[in-house]
Amino acid sequence: MTTVCLTFDFDAVSLWVSSLKQTTANPMSRGEFGARVGLPRVLALLASKDVKATFFVPAHTAVSFNRETLAILEAGHEIGVHGYCHETPVGLPRDEEADLLDRSVAKLRDALGQDFNPVGYRSPAWDLSTHSIELLEERGFLYDSSLMADDYSAYWASRGHEVSEESYQAGPVSDVVEIPVAWELDDFPHFMFLNKPMYQGMRTPAEVFELWREEFDFCASLPDGIFTLTMHPQIIGRGPRIAMLSRLIDHMKALPNLRFSTVADAASSWKRQAIATPGSSH
Ligand SMILES: [Zn+2]
Repeated sequence: MTTVCLTFDFDAVSLWVSSLKQTTANPMSRGEFGARVGLPRVLALLASKDVKATFFVPAHTAVSFNRETLAILEAGHEIGVHGYCHETPVGLPRDEEADLLDRSVAKLRDALGQDFNPVGYRSPAWDLSTHSIELLEERGFLYDSSLMADDYSAYWASRGHEVSEESYQAGPVSDVVEIPVAWELDDFPHFMFLNKPMYQGMRTPAEVFELWREEFDFCASLPDGIFTLTMHPQIIGRGPRIAMLSRLIDHMKALPNLRFSTVADAASSWKRQAIATPGSSH
């Protein structure tokens, strides 16, 4: 059975504020486009295809675009944690990172309701500190989706690592399931144009369709592949790109043994199976 996880990082303006350090009117308007135009188009497409997806939402976005974020939950999609204001956890002392994670979840609950209970995390930087997995594990998170040690299979995330010019040693495995990501399967490098820092992007939807279809077809040739796409409402939300995603979903749906799944559901079925399999490395 092939599993497809469509994921959307709903960064809105937080990406510009934190990661890109740009807070003038134009970058803010690009973030606003994601919330005002891109997100409704994404939600309409998912509804028309009857697909449930996962959105990773910084606490900053949940507060700034509260109505839009609530619409994601109302449509039955999953929301995972994606930082306080889209900051990187890399380089933070352990207690500061722990505090940031707790404040992110608390602010999401203030915005989305006290019964909101996220089980997934995606680092805004797609990078982790040596403490990140341990902190997620301590708080009972089911999965992380930020790393790249596999392409179409989940694996147990390691608690940090030790590396020098002499050797590399991954840390002991944790209870946290890693659902890997890939730059190939992210809309950002293909489409995003930035002039500061210079970032070309601007590929045609047809080129990206070709790339994603070929990746998907390979994944579908494996016994239990998990195909995880990472998209951003402010990027994929332009009309021709949404039309391309619609064509891709139709291509996927033509495969008989396939399911669309939230990342939480994909991670928990993988975990169940991994625990039940004798000789599992865990
Ligand atoms: Zn992001």
